[in-house]
Amino acid sequence: MKILILGGGVSGIAAKRLADLLGFENEVVSDKDGKVIDFADVELLVVSPGVGETSPILQAALKLEIEVISELEFGFRHLPKAVQLLSITGTNGKTTTTELTTHILQGLGKNACFAGNIGLPLSDVAADLIEGKIAENLVVAVEVSSFQLERVRDYSSQAAVILNVESDHLNRYHGSFELYRQTKLKIFDGVADKQNCFWGFTSPDYREKLISVKNDEIFYCGNKLFNYSELKIKGEHNLENLVAALELTASVCLPKEMTSQELKNLVKSFNSGRHRLENVENSLGITVINDSKATNSASTIAAIKSVAEEGKCNIRLILGGLDKDMDFSPLRDYMKFVKKSYLIGEAQNKFYQLLSDIVDCEKFSDFEVMVKTIKQESNSTDIILFSPACASMDMFLNYKDRGDRFIALIQAE
Ligand code: ADP
Repeated sequence: MKILILGGGVSGIAAKRLADLLGFENEVVSDKDGKVIDFADVELLVVSPGVGETSPILQAALKLEIEVISELEFGFRHLPKAVQLLSITGTNGKTTTTELTTHILQGLGKNACFAGNIGLPLSDVAADLIEGKIAENLVVAVEVSSFQLERVRDYSSQAAVILNVESDHLNRYHGSFELYRQTKLKIFDGVADKQNCFWGFTSPDYREKLISVKNDEIFYCGNKLFNYSELKIKGEHNLENLVAALELTASVCLPKEMTSQELKNLVKSFNSGRHRLENVENSLGITVINDSKATNSASTIAAIKSVAEEGKCNIRLILGGLDKDMDFSPLRDYMKFVKKSYLIGEAQNKFYQLLSDIVDCEKFSDFEVMVKTIKQESNSTDIILFSPACASMDMFLNYKDRGDRFIALIQAE
């Protein structure tokens, strides 16, 4: 069988590794090369998540009726049957939930790992299994983006969760929120037992049935788990992630494991990764939070809700970056907590038009000048929140680069 792999990034390299191991003739191709593609004998095109519908190679393959699948589907097709997948999608919270689920499963002694959009393609897991690097009784928490779901067919999981669906990536879906939502819903198609399809905590059902917080105590399905103040992860949105992780865990664990002290300790010890509501140490005596991973308004609202103090208007909020045709208007309702908004990047005019009638807004063309200005203007009762609601690639390599730059400027003398 001859395979073409479209895209030579992390996913493409993993797909190639797997294709080589399986003994398939294969070639990695890219639209950027401008090379004429010979489709003779090609039976399958494996596309990387970054490849959009307009790709000329993708369109040519579709015209020739060559089967086109995502790298996620390719990896899935070559996993041993014994492997169980727990799939996680949603606009926000995927990585946190994927990491938390893996942390719990590993702590409970399962042979578990994470994969997918989180950086380790599923094709690499399949390849590791073929090479005998991992035992087959594996549970994989798979972070799945909508891009990866665009071209799945057989992909199935033991359990799956859609954490939330909010305005994001609409540039990829011709401005259609419905198309984006429908793509996310595909994650449930391959779940045999529909009781193992979970929706985010935001639905009232979920909240009441599964988790409740009373006087600082968190109950899960009627059992007290721990006190909210004992958790390292904060904010209501992280409870949404927690309940999703618990539901997924329950689908592969025994009921007694779900009420064990071990599980409670595992949840308490978990912290989400960097650039997500990360506290920035500083000599200014001010609370500074780096939430550079917030790339849409829903994640920024989650950040504001986590740090806002009732009746106070003390947040200095940095917004802006690359717009993805998103609807930022839900942010307006939270400006009552914001003392001033500092606007950067390509989307700054859109934010200015949206917010300047209700909150003090200032536009900046230079990131360093902006951070210096905030430092000068802030006092010890303020909270500096860097939760930009936009992608970073207009000014930075990625969200990590953006967050690191912010921290360095905050900590600079
Ligand atoms: P993803 O992998 O989906 O991008 P992350 O866990 O990396 O999600 O978090 C991305 C951003 O969204 C961070 O700013 C984080 O604080 C925020 N966030 C995390 N979980 C949620 C949630 N359930 N709802 C809203 N925002 C969230």
